[in-house]
Amino acid sequence: MPHLKGKTALVTGSTSGIGLAIAIGLAKQGANIMANGFGEIDAAIAAIKACGVEVEYHGADMSKPAEIQDLIEQTEKRFGTLDILVNNAGIQYTANVEDFPADKWESIIAINLSSAFYTSHHALPGMKKRNWGRIINIASVHGLVGSTQKSAYVAAKHGIVGLTKVTALENAKTGVTCNAICPGWVLTPLVQKQVDARAEREGISNEAAKNALVSEKQPSGEFVAPEQLAALAVFLCGPDASEVRGVAWNMDGGWTAQ
Ligand code: NAD
Repeated sequence: MPHLKGKTALVTGSTSGIGLAIAIGLAKQGANIMANGFGEIDAAIAAIKACGVEVEYHGADMSKPAEIQDLIEQTEKRFGTLDILVNNAGIQYTANVEDFPADKWESIIAINLSSAFYTSHHALPGMKKRNWGRIINIASVHGLVGSTQKSAYVAAKHGIVGLTKVTALENAKTGVTCNAICPGWVLTPLVQKQVDARAEREGISNEAAKNALVSEKQPSGEFVAPEQLAALAVFLCGPDASEVRGVAWNMDGGWTAQ
């Protein structure tokens, strides 16, 4: 029996990579899905629909608070409930602090961090009223450890881990839990861009750049699969995870154990 039948999940940035895998994972457990994000929208909707659930799409830009509020309101209006919120939308930019463009700083903080505040802010009243909710914030190993050239990303991901703990504590006596997932390298379009940049910079093949990237940081030498992260998200929404609260859960091939 799929354990999320009748629930509604909003997954931000679910047109690609980790977000799409999580939307599919939750849909396989019976949850109806509000999808969001840019790019390959039709393909993503079709892949989620193939799981036999209801799917709606809202193109809210996660850097815009008014659009985020509308996304939450439209989700509750369409499905009558919003039970699972996965804050996954994220972008990346690399430069040293002194070279980091201010507009990139602002947009990374807005999309990777502030959006999770605004979605939670608008979704929590309904979840608390129903005394059931799951908020999963997709952070990163960079929410736990630093890295050069990623100031905005590292700051945003540390911030979202902090927001996770506060949200979990404020709701600890309710049926609403909040946890973060901290992936290491996952070969999604976001990381593919970094692979391509490295291949060009170092004059090496794409395959060599991919292997160099993953083996430098992850003791396993393997990328984490989006489906493995989806399985963790499904677990965090399940009955056995009701006492998992305020956790930042790594899935990183051993990266942060070093
Ligand atoms: P991706 O580029 O494949 O997907 C990002 C998604 O976010 C897409 O659906 C995109 O359309 C959406 N998005 C981007 N800007 C948006 C905006 N302004 N409004 C709405 N949607 C927007 O990336 P991914 O690798 O799947 O990353 C997903 C999340 O996982 C991000 O938060 C990222 O920081 C995190 N993460 C990724 C890795 C990795 O190795 N890929 C590691 C750790 C954490």
